[in-house]
Amino acid sequence: DPRMYGIKSKIRVVPDFPKPGIMFQDITTLLLDPKAFKDTVDLFVERYKDRNISVVAGIEARGFIFGPPIALAIGAKFVPLRKPGKLPGEVISEDYVLEYGKDCLQMHVGAVQPQERALVVDDLIATGGTLCAAMNLLECVGAEVVECACVIELPDLKGRERLKGKPLYVLVESH
Ligand code: IMP
Repeated sequence: DPRMYGIKSKIRVVPDFPKPGIMFQDITTLLLDPKAFKDTVDLFVERYKDRNISVVAGIEARGFIFGPPIALAIGAKFVPLRKPGKLPGEVISEDYVLEYGKDCLQMHVGAVQPQERALVVDDLIATGGTLCAAMNLLECVGAEVVECACVIELPDLKGRERLKGKPLYVLVESH
């Protein structure tokens, strides 16, 4: 799809951010271009509109940018998966390991019902640890994760292999 090239061209790569040696994929430049931003959302909507998805779960923070427009367009609810201490209600938590240290995602109890069909959305998959934690939260409450969707994949980090065989759909790869 030629729209993928336009999307890729709008993602800025910032060397040595936030630390030396990291090539940061910056989607804020994609958001500045209404055509590329719309194409991004449209590609996901076209893929998911007829798949009976009732929940779009977005991962803090950039999953909160792409998830809600997808959810609205496919008629699904949006559920934020947040870093600890942000959600005011009763939560379930999933700890996960990062390259340096650990992190945690939380979801409101009652936001997702057993048997619901869920799509997990984030901007980028690197090692896959974050998406894996998100899937665990949804599966913990009995939901079925249909697929994970990201704008960008860093395939060299082999994050796909950590997704327990769940399908992952990405728009662009970056090496
Ligand atoms: P993973 O858990 O190693 O797959 O890392 C993915 C998470 O880290 C996602 O929530 C991303 O938003 C974030 N992340 C890692 N590297 C980048 C980057 O280069 N740009 C934007 N986000 C990144």
